[in-house]
Amino acid sequence: MNKKSLKKKVSVALVAFLVSSSLFSMKSSESKVEASRVVNICIDPGHGGTGGRNLGAQYNGLSEKEITLKVANAMKEELSKYEGVNIYMTRTTDTEISLKNRAAYAASVNADFVYSIHFNASTGHDLCGSEVWTSGFGSFYQKGYSFGEIEENELLNLGIYPRGVKTKLGTNGDYYGIINNSRLFNIPCVIIEHCYLDQGADLNWLKSSKDPYTILGKADATAVAKYFGLSSSLLKVNYGNYPKNNVVPPKFPKGEDLTNPTVCKINSAVRNKSAKNITANISVKDPDTMIIYYKYSLDGGITWSSVVGWNRALETDTVVIPNPNNSKILTIRAYNQYDLTADSLPVIMK
Ligand SMILES: [Zn+2]
Repeated sequence: MNKKSLKKKVSVALVAFLVSSSLFSMKSSESKVEASRVVNICIDPGHGGTGGRNLGAQYNGLSEKEITLKVANAMKEELSKYEGVNIYMTRTTDTEISLKNRAAYAASVNADFVYSIHFNASTGHDLCGSEVWTSGFGSFYQKGYSFGEIEENELLNLGIYPRGVKTKLGTNGDYYGIINNSRLFNIPCVIIEHCYLDQGADLNWLKSSKDPYTILGKADATAVAKYFGLSSSLLKVNYGNYPKNNVVPPKFPKGEDLTNPTVCKINSAVRNKSAKNITANISVKDPDTMIIYYKYSLDGGITWSSVVGWNRALETDTVVIPNPNNSKILTIRAYNQYDLTADSLPVIMK
């Protein structure tokens, strides 16, 4: 596997983390699990196995199959501090298990939810942030989306950029095997892609923290506790009345967004030669999903910056773009939640 470490000029603006957090603000209350019932949680550490198979993403000395197990162990340890919960794991060692057998194991322990733990990588090695994948079907979508919003908020609190809750359909139901097989056993399931292993912004987060996998596992456990309304006398928390957004189950299975953003336009761009930057007013739009990032090019689209967080509450925003060589040309590329893009026309500045 490629172990390129990429130097990036611009990281995702932290301000966008904070702005986007309003998206995950909690509104009305959904149905709550009865306090008396014991919840069965199945944690699925993604990948695993020897002989060079099923390793998951391998970048920068990080092996997905190893760190998913570390996060899962930390998640289990934290969750075990709560009352009324049984925790099961599909694997506790470096073994290869089929996705169907993982789901079958979850069914055998009467799991209420399957949490599949993963890390991400992109072909262009240029993306960053977390995402949660859920089933596109009815109540499975509803439960996964509802949990996913809480999970994304927990990761956002750690400074990881939220790419949102997503769905993808395949020929036989949900595209992702663990989600589809769990659904066929009547168990809601999400895949938590915590962050990217192949790129600067997320890699910096992983490397700047002393024990990132324990931190991530605790965040996952907290999200589960909030979703199920658990309480812990040990941790002195009670999420019994934790509010959840009211997610409406889709009438028809919900798949991925297959179309590019429809608008990416530079309304105005002003060069500040002494400050070596550009103040640009930009409009972006995607009728299906959110715009989550933009990139810019200062050489007519030959080279591009790293992704920069877009304030997804807005269709038009004013941004300041570094322009170290006082370039006169600016192009913007908008990314939707499924990483489909649209480029603006290049603008020539005075
Ligand atoms: Zn994975």
